[in-house]
Amino acid sequence: MKAKHFALSLFALALAAAASGATAQNVKITPLGTHPGELCNRDRAMIFEDPTGVRILYDAGQSVMGGNDPRLGTVHVVLLSHAHTDHIGDRKIAGLNPGTCDSPETISALPNSTTAEIAAAKNSSLIMIRNMAFFLAKKIENIRSKPTATCAEPGGSIAAVQAAPCIAPVELGGTKFVKAAGAAASVEIITVHAAHDSTLTRDLLTDAQKKSLEADNISVNLGAPSGYVIKFTNGLRVYLSGDTGLHTEMRTVVHDFYRVNLAVINMGQNAILPDAAAYAINELVRPAAVIVSHPNEGVTTGGIIRPNSRTKLFVDQVKGRPVYLGISDRTLEFDGSGTCMAGGCY
Ligand SMILES: [Zn+2]
Ligand SMILES: [Zn+2]
Repeated sequence: MKAKHFALSLFALALAAAASGATAQNVKITPLGTHPGELCNRDRAMIFEDPTGVRILYDAGQSVMGGNDPRLGTVHVVLLSHAHTDHIGDRKIAGLNPGTCDSPETISALPNSTTAEIAAAKNSSLIMIRNMAFFLAKKIENIRSKPTATCAEPGGSIAAVQAAPCIAPVELGGTKFVKAAGAAASVEIITVHAAHDSTLTRDLLTDAQKKSLEADNISVNLGAPSGYVIKFTNGLRVYLSGDTGLHTEMRTVVHDFYRVNLAVINMGQNAILPDAAAYAINELVRPAAVIVSHPNEGVTTGGIIRPNSRTKLFVDQVKGRPVYLGISDRTLEFDGSGTCMAGGCY
């Protein structure tokens, strides 16, 4: 009888999971913005959780509280698309709902950056373009007073759980694999082209370096800006655009070769306008679904898109696929085909 009851309750659980669309095979995506329930000006950070448990933070930026943000949880991998302040995180929030959605209040994260703080606190592996990885390794060393090593790759994969933060530097187009203990497959992370820039603010440099560059009003470039393609173990293939203008590799590399089925696209006037972003999605990347991030405007009020926002212009021009707003603290779940299964699909 006991066994029968157990089987029945398992069956009931499975039914409930099927009804909600939530299953253990989905990738969970949680944006961490300044204002829970909204998509706001500075929002960039997102957590991706593979079904095997590997948890990846993409572009910590300025909308997190730093290493002790309670929303972060475990962070096995830290990705950074480029060195600009709003991505590396020269500033952070002191708590949730700081200021307005249009103009969130932030405090300084100098001298280390939110990216370094989080990687140091979480013993994360940093997978990013070489010079950014080296730069952040030093920041993490300053926090921990211990050198930051290169991640070991036994059997070709970085172990998800590390005893200390480590760096896994890549060149543009380079690939790293991350594997949870006991998992049959690894998560594959590839850097891809972005038509942008990756200059660091002088504020994050050492005083000597800062002084020498001030006279010429320039700073240092930390290598190529990038986007990422992540192949999750359930088959989901996500394109993280980074900040970028239109480029032909969106079609040839991201669509034709990697055949991504979900795109996270960064909006914002310095990178791409709504009509160009819609062209990128409709004609070049052609994913099954889209998530909007990096809006550089307050997009929602009460979680509803503002009719006069730039983001609305983008949403209206995307054809034949759903567009989801990267609403802070709301977890979207995607199956291997890029179909939204739970967490506010519509
Ligand atoms: Zn940028
Ligand atoms: Zn940006």
